[in-house]
Amino acid sequence: MPLTRRTFLATAAAVPLSFGALLALRRAPADAAPMSGAVEEIRTTWRTLLPKGAAVSTTTEPLVRSNDEWKKVLDPKQYDVLRQEGTEYPGTSPLNNEKRAGVYVCAGCALPLFTSRMKFDSGTGWPSFFTSIPDHLAMKKDFKIIVERDEYHCVRCGGHQGHVFDDGPPPTRQRWCNNGVALRFLPA
Ligand SMILES: [Zn+2]
Repeated sequence: MPLTRRTFLATAAAVPLSFGALLALRRAPADAAPMSGAVEEIRTTWRTLLPKGAAVSTTTEPLVRSNDEWKKVLDPKQYDVLRQEGTEYPGTSPLNNEKRAGVYVCAGCALPLFTSRMKFDSGTGWPSFFTSIPDHLAMKKDFKIIVERDEYHCVRCGGHQGHVFDDGPPPTRQRWCNNGVALRFLPA
């Protein structure tokens, strides 16, 4: 799904004004190039890992809330990462050691973002994935550090999730480095 104007606006609304002018959303890297058959299968069959009757978002329709509303539904750490683009301290997320089969959803809006089949141990202290569920994350350039890095957001609520790097394992070589606090794990 290409980024629609509505998706763009929903994401833009989540960006602090000082960075708004630098916003440069584009397609996620995994959506830009064809994937190998094995990876494509992992990316497109994620629904098979959803627990029965799980309360997840089945739509990417933008979910827009004011900051005050977000403060009511998120705990302070979730709010800092998802709505203020904070970064959790490495090694603090229980999801680093999560090995069960299941689906990782956005802690803000319950949109499925990753599955257990996409996860690998990066040794960085943050939950890491070599690919993501198609069309559920969107990129923007992050100019906070000198080396340019790619920051990604949930397409539904615009919540900041993490950064994607090109030093992951084959075959994708991608490392989606995610804040554990921005995710909720649903065991299959
Ligand atoms: Zn979300």
